[in-house]
Amino acid sequence: MLNIVVCVKAVPDPKEACNIKIDPDTKTLLRCDVPLVLNPLDKHAMEAALQLKAQFEARISVLSMGPPEAGNIVKECLALGADQGYLLSDPAFGGADAYATAFTLAKGIRKIGSFDVIFCGMASSDGSTEWVGPEIATFLGLPVVTLVKKIVECKGASWIVKASVENGYRLAQVKLPAVFTVTRELNTPRTLSFSGIIKARKKDIDHWSLDELGVSSESVGLKGSPTIVSELNAQEENKRQVEILTGTREEKTDMLVQKLVEAGVI
Ligand SMILES: Cc1cc2nc3c(=O)[nH]c(=O)nc-3n(C[C@H](O)[C@H](O)[C@H](O)COP(=O)(O)OP(=O)(O)OC[C@H]3O[C@@H](n4cnc5c(N)ncnc54)[C@H](O)[C@@H]3O)c2cc1C
Repeated sequence: MLNIVVCVKAVPDPKEACNIKIDPDTKTLLRCDVPLVLNPLDKHAMEAALQLKAQFEARISVLSMGPPEAGNIVKECLALGADQGYLLSDPAFGGADAYATAFTLAKGIRKIGSFDVIFCGMASSDGSTEWVGPEIATFLGLPVVTLVKKIVECKGASWIVKASVENGYRLAQVKLPAVFTVTRELNTPRTLSFSGIIKARKKDIDHWSLDELGVSSESVGLKGSPTIVSELNAQEENKRQVEILTGTREEKTDMLVQKLVEAGVI
């Protein structure tokens, strides 16, 4: 049996980006004011797990850390075909940076018990640090391959994967258990089916709080975060003026040169 854990993050719905608010004190995103959706790259991580389950005898556990509303994205993954859902939710987990997030998720994975493959998306659509996957591997003492774009060979506990690097790719041979962060190129995620939604109704989500995880509040959330966001500003409206030059090519070129001279650029 191949035990697969997929880490999925609830992110603010990009369609509602304009309503995202920042907590003035902690400088972290207020996630409760905006509908949360499944992080786009985590759909590819889920699809990778489902395709493996179609090939091998496998069990898929889905794990998320977030506010109670994040339970909906775990439910969505159960409807896609995952077997068991876990939600790490406690006010103490709030405001976590990537380090504290990875620490908490690693504790959750240990509590789930057996794991051979841990899939994460390459990045989230909000924080996008790309650190959580590798940090989970560090906390669990496991090998990690980031930016996986193809699973080339699965021979028992020995896998070969193709991963993106700048201007090319690398082939990595890795011994399970291991962590893999995935890219969009890996697959095309399936969409929810009505039968899947019905089946998911019978599947459980285990909700684990700080106490159930058995960790101190000092090691998670804002308290457990070595990085403090000191300032977070919304991007200002683009104030650049645009002037469309008209005329023949020669006329436009002359006007442009003139303007660059006037602006002291040339
Ligand atoms: C604008 C902004 C800037 C930030 N800058 C920093 C920074 O510089 N340093 C820092 O430490 N933190 C930073 N953070 C906080 C960081 O984003 C959060 O800690 C976040 O929960 C984890 O990091 P990430 O989203 O960047 O994860 P990434 O590493 O980008 O996520 C990769 C994958 O990890 C898994 N994952 C991530 N979070 C969860 C979760 N909660 N539950 C389940 N799986 C998860 C998913 O599979 C996801 O696809 C920033 C946040 C914001 C919004």
